[in-house]
Amino acid sequence: MNGKTRSSEMPDRPEFFDAGIRFECTGCGECCTGAPGTVYINRREASAIARRLGLDLKAFLETYAYPFKNGYSLREKENYDCIFFQDGRCSIYDVRPTQCRTYPFWPETLRSEAAWRHTCRACEGIGRGRLYSKKEILAEVQKVLDAGEPVDD
Ligand code: SF4
Repeated sequence: MNGKTRSSEMPDRPEFFDAGIRFECTGCGECCTGAPGTVYINRREASAIARRLGLDLKAFLETYAYPFKNGYSLREKENYDCIFFQDGRCSIYDVRPTQCRTYPFWPETLRSEAAWRHTCRACEGIGRGRLYSKKEILAEVQKVLDAGEPVDD
């Protein structure tokens, strides 16, 4: 932590995932495609992707993003796939945003058992692979909340 007071913090209270959740991404691409959605990126993440593409920040934002909340969202293709989903995989995987790194452990997917069951139907990686402890899951959620905080340049 950087010492700043965070406006969003996950409370540690009894949750339906107290015993942890198994998850291992299969790379199926379901979360990068399909229904319209937003892929939030803050200014720091936008700069990292721009550098990776060899673009200056302004050119990157004009072409690949639009303003959203405290930052931006990546644009989508005509069919709503993420603009960086190419040939069945993420073409910016090494610099993918926090939202993509932390899926499926998001505040909105974990807000209730019903929301989580809905997420389970969309993500085949849930229920397989290694067991994430409650502490690890809450740490992922906190990363999402932190990424949405205003970023100092
Ligand atoms: S839907 Fe789940 S398993 Fe498929 S790519 Fe996304 S995180 Fe991985």
